Amino acid sequence: MAEAGTLHDAFIEELRDVYDAEKQLIKALPKMARSASSRELRGLLETHLEETRGQVERLDEVFASIEQKPRGKHCEGIAGIIEEGKSILEEDFDGPTLDASIIAAGQRAEHYEIAAYGTLVAWARAMGHDDAAELLEQTLEEEKAADEKLSALAEGGLNQEAAQLAHPELAGAANDRPKSKRSPAGRRASK
Ligand code: ZN
Ligand code: FE
Ligand code: FE
Repeated sequence: MAEAGTLHDAFIEELRDVYDAEKQLIKALPKMARSASSRELRGLLETHLEETRGQVERLDEVFASIEQKPRGKHCEGIAGIIEEGKSILEEDFDGPTLDASIIAAGQRAEHYEIAAYGTLVAWARAMGHDDAAELLEQTLEEEKAADEKLSALAEGGLNQEAAQLAHPELAGAANDRPKSKRSPAGRRASK
């Protein structure tokens, strides 16, 4: 290279990286969704798959806004996260434990994306690429929301269910809690 690369060059590189990451996730998410035993988790992953398709289209617009052709460059980071996620699916776990593990893998992917888009938004703003920043910000918010929904699902009973399978002695204690779904009154306490 004759001249040193600028932040604009680095920005394009990062866009290519995340473009490829999203495409890898589009391939990986259906299998994760099918493997989920909780209907809620499956639905959440399927919804995020649709969002992810929209994110690729949004990246097409980001590339266009800085007059670049959309192009991906193999993202090794997300490839590793997906690889580890797949190895979880090969484990012989009971349903709730598998679900808790799928959530763990999913959140690793979301956090990776949050880091990538957080940087991209900041760089776009710093360089005055306001249209790009706006689009990237929308995706950043979707990734954060997906991460929060996964947390809510895990902490809203799924982890507890898995924990009780690991430690049956916890079941009695949990039944005494007003929050339990198994309360004799048969109605769920509101939050
Ligand atoms: Zn620039
Ligand atoms: Fe994404
Ligand atoms: Fe995502």
